[in-house]
Amino acid sequence: MSYDDRSTMIVLQLSYYYACTGTVREPGGLSRRGVRATEGKRSMREMTATVVGGGIAGLAAAVSLARAGWSTTVLERSAGFGELGAGVALPRNGITALRSLGLDDDTIATLGHESLVTGFRNLRGRWILRIPNERPEVSRVMAVWGMHRARLHTALRAAAEAAGVRMICGARVSEVHPGTPGGKAAVVAWRTDDDEHRIECDLLVGADGMRSAVREQVFPGIEPAYSGSTSWRAVIPDTASDGNLIELWGPGAEFGAMRLSDSEIYWYGYFRHPRGATFADELAAARSRFAGWAPQAVDLVEATSASQLMRHDVYHLPGGLPSYVRGRVVMIGDAAHAALPTMGQGAATALEDGATVGRMIGGHLADGADLAAAMAAFDAERRPRCHAIARQATVMARYGADLGGGWRQPVRNALLRLVPGAAVARSAAPLVAWRPPATGS
Ligand SMILES: Cc1cc2nc3c(=O)[nH]c(=O)nc-3n(C[C@H](O)[C@H](O)[C@H](O)COP(=O)(O)OP(=O)(O)OC[C@H]3O[C@@H](n4cnc5c(N)ncnc54)[C@H](O)[C@@H]3O)c2cc1C
Repeated sequence: MSYDDRSTMIVLQLSYYYACTGTVREPGGLSRRGVRATEGKRSMREMTATVVGGGIAGLAAAVSLARAGWSTTVLERSAGFGELGAGVALPRNGITALRSLGLDDDTIATLGHESLVTGFRNLRGRWILRIPNERPEVSRVMAVWGMHRARLHTALRAAAEAAGVRMICGARVSEVHPGTPGGKAAVVAWRTDDDEHRIECDLLVGADGMRSAVREQVFPGIEPAYSGSTSWRAVIPDTASDGNLIELWGPGAEFGAMRLSDSEIYWYGYFRHPRGATFADELAAARSRFAGWAPQAVDLVEATSASQLMRHDVYHLPGGLPSYVRGRVVMIGDAAHAALPTMGQGAATALEDGATVGRMIGGHLADGADLAAAMAAFDAERRPRCHAIARQATVMARYGADLGGGWRQPVRNALLRLVPGAAVARSAAPLVAWRPPATGS
């Protein structure tokens, strides 16, 4: 069956897409009966963790391990723990993860702006699927916080510092030995400008993102794949636009925007494009690519300057890792399960991973548990959920931003107009209702 022939089936399946959210598991936890006391003979004072990567996942893991009593070091390759000046959409599960890392609501409120997912529109701005979010049970599920990545990163760094995490920047990790739970320690080697360093640790967290050096060494041969799409993104000054999230679907492209603060809007334009292909004038190309779309999109691109615009080709890790643990290494965030951005769950699941490392591994060992059992429990907890979310992001891309032109667009749109928006919210509820596992569960 050709791609074209499959499209009708695909579009029909799309109507039931949200039913898939039932495959996302609610957190459970390892039975205490399954935990042996071996590693825990060592005093908690001696338990050491090295986190490779000081991004969202790495800082979250460092905070949670340090709060569980571990002596924790973060190795970050960039000179100053910097972050891109783009926005990120954090759904409710991401906010729950931030709270579980000790960030209070006042701090979280300073990081971003709460918006509501209102549904999807076609490129001219006509509703394809409208989600009636006036009812509290719907708005609870459809709430999304637009955050500036730099502010989120700064808050996580402050939480790490407050928890006593040692942070080393300009440290490019080049070699990893995973060690054995109950046996050899893990070893990590890194280079700074002028020197080479090595450290032994009880736990090594691979949080070094899409092009993970830890993954390359511990799971050789598993490489990111180009998604076929690239994305322009910008944060621009704005005080006038409606605060609700905008999502427009056109042939082979998606345009989205959301408020980050009273004075900033973040927009992205995601579109099919050959890998690595550049434009002589990126801003002119963005204006031309989204010309004729709904006025909200055109106005935002028009209001953007060349220096505010960035573009990145979008990669993902199809299928994710076959296990998130090996030896004394635990893999988290994009290094373990980089998904397409179409579900807006990359940062949220990175935060969930980080919070769960401290609770299920750090917390278990605080109770005298065996490291291998705690790591296996972490894998069983996280992998099915992250795998399901990444799969849904692929489905979402295929029927949304990646769907080609011609008859596919009106057919997809007509079918989606039959889907009740309230049902979408109901079926999305398990995904955002994530709760951190109890420490030592
Ligand atoms: C276009 C686009 C839009 C997106 N939009 C959203 C969105 O709206 N909502 C959302 O939730 N997610 C979104 N995401 C995904 C989200 O950004 C990622 O999932 C998230 O940043 C992953 O965090 P991480 O900490 O795992 O990886 P990263 O943020 O990549 O952090 C990895 C860190 O490791 C460091 N590092 C790398 N190699 C080494 C090494 N060898 N030694 C030491 N340090 C190293 C890096 O410098 C970096 O600081 C988007 C992604 C893309 C591409």
